[in-house]
Amino acid sequence: MTNPPPAKPCPICGKPPDPTHAPFCSPRCRTIDLGRWFNEDYALPATTPLDPDS
Ligand SMILES: [Zn+2]
Repeated sequence: MTNPPPAKPCPICGKPPDPTHAPFCSPRCRTIDLGRWFNEDYALPATTPLDPDS
């Protein structure tokens, strides 16, 4: 049981992941993924909208 588990390809570009940046292959792909998350989070409606009028 010394073999590491099969690494999934980088979700951004599909290249083999770099252990340093797993599951991504490079800092760039990690940043891209983070950016996607960030944008999605901002695109979602606020979970707890502070509405002083209600
Ligand atoms: Zn990549």
